[in-house]
Amino acid sequence: RAKQAGRDTWRFASEQLNSLHMPQAQLEVQLRGALERGEFAMYFQPLIDLRSGRVRSFEALMRWNSPVLGPVSPADFIPVAETREMMGGLGHWAMRESIRQMCAWQAALPGVSVAVNVSATQFAYENFVADTRATLAEYGGTPGLLTLEITESAVLADAMQARQKLLELRALGVRVALDDFGTGYSSLGQLRSLPVDVLKIDRVFIQDSNTDSAFIQAMISMGHSLGLEVVAEGIEDAATVAQLQALRCDLGQGFYFARPQPAGQAVAAMAQGSLLALPRC
Ligand code: C2E
Ligand code: MG
Ligand code: MG
Ligand code: MG
Repeated sequence: RAKQAGRDTWRFASEQLNSLHMPQAQLEVQLRGALERGEFAMYFQPLIDLRSGRVRSFEALMRWNSPVLGPVSPADFIPVAETREMMGGLGHWAMRESIRQMCAWQAALPGVSVAVNVSATQFAYENFVADTRATLAEYGGTPGLLTLEITESAVLADAMQARQKLLELRALGVRVALDDFGTGYSSLGQLRSLPVDVLKIDRVFIQDSNTDSAFIQAMISMGHSLGLEVVAEGIEDAATVAQLQALRCDLGQGFYFARPQPAGQAVAAMAQGSLLALPRC
């Protein structure tokens, strides 16, 4: 186990190093105009109902393929976009593209929903709720099929404002998920008073072999006692699926089921039934 932990630590450290060595200035230069040049794409990763094995929804994840830098991870370019005030344009595009795809899917996959990530600055925009409403109306999207994934930091920045926006989204019928749960600093008291619908347990807890199942169970029970649906992200093997099923986790997402893929491929994999191979418990 020490060896395993050592390897993970090394891997983490090297990823951090890569991020630091990413030429920030160059990244920023390339990022400007990248949207207009059509360098972005939305990929989709399924969320599986752990009881039935059915695909319930898809999380939309942004991909940037820069002709100069190659593929750049959103973990690298989103923080830069945030500091350079480019996130408004990027976030707006991601939302439109995801809602457009969700609506295009309805004929073949009635009721399929899409989850869109919203960064803290994006969520803080005054017009955020109005924009979301307008985009749904433009494509004729059902609000209840859209989930917005926000992080604790988006809520903590201005708790009163955030709460107000969450209530407006709820009135609109849009669902809200608290993403990366467990990695932030919000208190249980704050969580209890937040009008959200879904809790996404961060993959560090799902993947860390040192996280015991009592801890995961506690997070799941807490989510359920608050009336929330619970999602586990970062599931990479069958044993983890079985463990989460035993703990009554509602939904699962991870490379075990499927990687994020372009819309067409994401659906094709689903149609083949390759995602429905849940281990029975
Ligand atoms: P997130 O919202 O927590 O998304 C989940 C991340 O975990 C994705 O990374 C996904 O590819 C990855 N993942 C899923 N299953 C597994 C697994 O089994 N193993 C491992 N190792 N990883 C898995 P990705 O696509 O690189 O995105 C990173 C983060 O960038 C996202 O974290 C989200 O915070 C942000 N992001 C991505 N797309 C968007 C977007 O359109 N808008 C905004 N505002 N943020 C985005
Ligand atoms: Mg997310
Ligand atoms: Mg997450
Ligand atoms: Mg995460």
